[in-house]
Amino acid sequence: MNKLYYINTYGCQMNVHESEKIAGILRECGYSEAATEEEADLIVFNTCCIRDTAEKKIFGNIGDVKKYKKNNPSLIVAVVGCMSQQSGYSEKIKKSYPFVNIVLGTSNLPELAEAVKNVESKLNKSFISVPCNERPQIKEDIPVYRTSGTNAWVNIMYGCDNFCSYCIVPYVRGRERSRDIENITDEIKSLLDEGYKEITLLGQNVDSYRFENFRFVDILERIARIEGKFRVRFMSSHPKDFNSEVIDVIRSCPNICNNIHLPVQSGSDRILSLMNRRYTRAQYLDIISEIREKIPDCGITTDIMTGFPTETEEDFADTLDLVKKVGFSNAFTFVYSPRKGTVAAEMEQLPSEVKKRRITELVNLQNEITKRLSLDYIGKTEEVLVEDRHPKLKNHYCGRTDSGRLVNFSGECAIGEFVKVKVTSSKSASLWGEYDG
Ligand code: SF4
Repeated sequence: MNKLYYINTYGCQMNVHESEKIAGILRECGYSEAATEEEADLIVFNTCCIRDTAEKKIFGNIGDVKKYKKNNPSLIVAVVGCMSQQSGYSEKIKKSYPFVNIVLGTSNLPELAEAVKNVESKLNKSFISVPCNERPQIKEDIPVYRTSGTNAWVNIMYGCDNFCSYCIVPYVRGRERSRDIENITDEIKSLLDEGYKEITLLGQNVDSYRFENFRFVDILERIARIEGKFRVRFMSSHPKDFNSEVIDVIRSCPNICNNIHLPVQSGSDRILSLMNRRYTRAQYLDIISEIREKIPDCGITTDIMTGFPTETEEDFADTLDLVKKVGFSNAFTFVYSPRKGTVAAEMEQLPSEVKKRRITELVNLQNEITKRLSLDYIGKTEEVLVEDRHPKLKNHYCGRTDSGRLVNFSGECAIGEFVKVKVTSSKSASLWGEYDG
């Protein structure tokens, strides 16, 4: 009988892509995808530990699958990813949830096939592998089962060396390791041959990519020279490493999208310093001015945190002021959440009502800005990569502009096509329009 897997993915794009690798490995082990968790023979939790709330939710969801074991005693449950990599967590998971069969750390995905086979054959009732190697070797050739439509995610590097004071990532994903530029180029060429129309380069800090003498800008230039009609995006950048050369390459290469995600985190120099971000507000604003000057229609998005330890009303006002000055097309906003083992978790914390008030104010401000900037598109014709049919409206499709804006539009076209869309109206962050050739 066909064995079925179900993957629960939490967290960032890195994890979404890692789940594609998990699916690839499981398919090679003879599994296919289950429509629901209930009918699965193997349930994977690909976890995130960036916020306390995410972690609590994941623990709750792991506990919930125990009920499926009653009907299916041979059900295999695997917990992988950032949460299981944290110090002491593999023991904690096994103690709290003895029915979990497999626990793997962030760099142990290649062991998943062996773990599944061992558990299936009862060689090991449970398989735990969470080594603490800070710079694990990059394993190429992991099978990938892609589920991201017209876009394909491609890792260019792993890990992070930055140790922002609030962030657990360097502790659970290890130090920076960059992939061989030839492997990246070969992977992208074959993805384009398969018909993918958009490539998103992934890394915790793509700007610090370094393989031999090659830097991030070299990858961009090399990919941009590949023949064919396709787009390139990348995430995430770090303001301390982002540089003029990258802006110049984006400007000169039409297939690199005019869309930059540049996490600012705070508009206050005092908080940026406590966060160990290693740039100032003025330096950030200088980068923005250069982008605006060289690529006027560039969509700039960001990540911003409120309620960082000791953040005063003045610090928060600086953040609001920066948000107004930049005019981000969109922002991922977060309330600071302490992570055990990080420097900021030991600092003086703010009351939750202060954090809540500030995040509401920030979100309201950003929504107003996004709404206002959306109006600028009305009447313009944009090139859109058709990503999917509209989930509710007949003869409607959705896709993205080069600047990263979501557009819903009417007309007849095919998924994966580049089309012209005339924007006729907007609803907050999304644009609406008509097929225009
Ligand atoms: S750059 Fe900072 S926030 Fe981003 S992953 Fe590294 S430590 Fe975390």
